[in-house]
Amino acid sequence: MGSAPDVYAQLRSDLKGTEAEVLTPDSEGYRESLQRWSEHCVKEAQAVVKVTSASDITKTLHFVKTNKIPIVVKGGGHSTSGSSSISDGLVIDLSKMRNVTVDPAAKTITAQGGTIWADVDNAAAEHGLATVGGTVNHTGVGGLTLGGGYGYLTGAHGLTIDNLLSVSIVLASGTQVTASPTSNSDLFWAVRGAGQNFGVVTSFTFRAIPQPHPVFAGPLIFLPDKLPQVVTFANKFHEQNNEDAALMWGFSCPPPANAPVVLTMLFYNGPEDAARAFFADLWDLGPVADMSGVVPYATVNSLLNANAGFDGRKQFGGGAFKLPMSPAFVEALFGEWLQFVSGHEGMNESLMLFETIPYGKVREVANESCSFSNRGDYYNIGTVFKWFDPELDEVVREFSRGLLRKASQSAGVEQDEEIRGKEGVGVYGNYSNNDVSAQDVYGSNTKRLEELKHKYDPDNLFDRGTRLVPRPLVVVN
Ligand SMILES: Cc1cc2nc3c(=O)[nH]c(=O)nc-3n(C[C@H](O)[C@H](O)[C@H](O)COP(=O)(O)OP(=O)(O)OC[C@H]3O[C@@H](n4cnc5c(N)ncnc54)[C@H](O)[C@@H]3O)c2cc1C
Repeated sequence: MGSAPDVYAQLRSDLKGTEAEVLTPDSEGYRESLQRWSEHCVKEAQAVVKVTSASDITKTLHFVKTNKIPIVVKGGGHSTSGSSSISDGLVIDLSKMRNVTVDPAAKTITAQGGTIWADVDNAAAEHGLATVGGTVNHTGVGGLTLGGGYGYLTGAHGLTIDNLLSVSIVLASGTQVTASPTSNSDLFWAVRGAGQNFGVVTSFTFRAIPQPHPVFAGPLIFLPDKLPQVVTFANKFHEQNNEDAALMWGFSCPPPANAPVVLTMLFYNGPEDAARAFFADLWDLGPVADMSGVVPYATVNSLLNANAGFDGRKQFGGGAFKLPMSPAFVEALFGEWLQFVSGHEGMNESLMLFETIPYGKVREVANESCSFSNRGDYYNIGTVFKWFDPELDEVVREFSRGLLRKASQSAGVEQDEEIRGKEGVGVYGNYSNNDVSAQDVYGSNTKRLEELKHKYDPDNLFDRGTRLVPRPLVVVN
């Protein structure tokens, strides 16, 4: 490989006549392009290529293979594993590919590979439509979809990938193909759960769901002494199993008070009076703050944006929990969490969330029907630790791992490999970090994924997502 400026002059020349930009450390806009949702994922890339089309991506892949330059792909930049940033190579940045088209007659939404959920929610809402997207609307469509995708509509309509009809993807070879149930169906099986390992998706086509009316949603905040009653309500919520409702609950110490509180986020896809009756027990507990109300669906996914800003170092973590849960068990977790968070400077905005989204529709799809393997009789736990001091990176990682392990004991997710494949692994890949293996995330789908990786990316060009090893298919006679 030549010196960095020489090499990237070649890429600029390759992309001449296109709208693509090649940013190197001396370029205007380079530093901004390194920003990620978590500061500890900001890495000094050799160059950032802001591509605008599949053809730009093909040319860029040809260039990096010729010059042996490692790459990452950046969608919304929200992963906290660092999988969309790189210090020794090149970023393929999709932020100029944010077009969304809606076909109201066919009931489809087609989103380019660099869109964020606000782009999709707003475009779909113009036609009274929606799809299953993320609950914080500045999150990228790319990473969230390729790893599975849970949202408020999951109870009624399954995962984001369960509403994915097809993708256009540029493979490691540089070829652009469509993957769908009828075209490259093996690739379509792989991209629904492990997509970030198989190429650069330039567009996603989703099934659009009619959403003509507003919904009831928003946070209610309680003092910590109400935690046992909130757990009791979550147990009741589980029994009622209303697929049009969702309840996120957990704890944080948000500003301005920076004191511990129990957070709940309500969602009800129906009339206000029905929502108020359904969640009545929570108002009876006396919330100290109530920000709930009737809102357009496109607004719901912005309600938590303020709690998920871009400053600070952050780590997402994932686990599983089963309901009913004993209030005493959750109080013990809260105690341990609070002791850690209050014992370290600047961690008050950390969050532990029990995502009680009905999973019946998710489980109607078999774990072996696509690479995503987290379909089981349990809900997801999501933790976000936020801190500022780089010295704490490892301490946070260790604590988060231990707490999630303990919390997930309630789910009792079977550790036997055979069963984990069928019953769900208990780990959501998009919440996990580099400390999980492909086997942890894909269970018994791992072997087929490794064979498909060999078919579609034998040299492991896309090597920064969950580690998959390309493995040749062994034909047994
Ligand atoms: C505040 C916040 C809220 C969240 N809420 C939810 C939620 O409600 N539901 C949920 O399911 N998850 C949620 N997540 C987790 C989220 O799914 C992951 O963080 C996901 O990786 C974000 O995708 P991204 O495109 O923003 O990230 P990036 O860091 O850009 O990408 C993540 C991975 O996907 C790859 N990638 C991205 N786009 C493409 C593409 N077009 N083609 C190929 N590879 C691509 C990247 O290379 C990288 O490996 C949330 C995360 C955050 C930080």
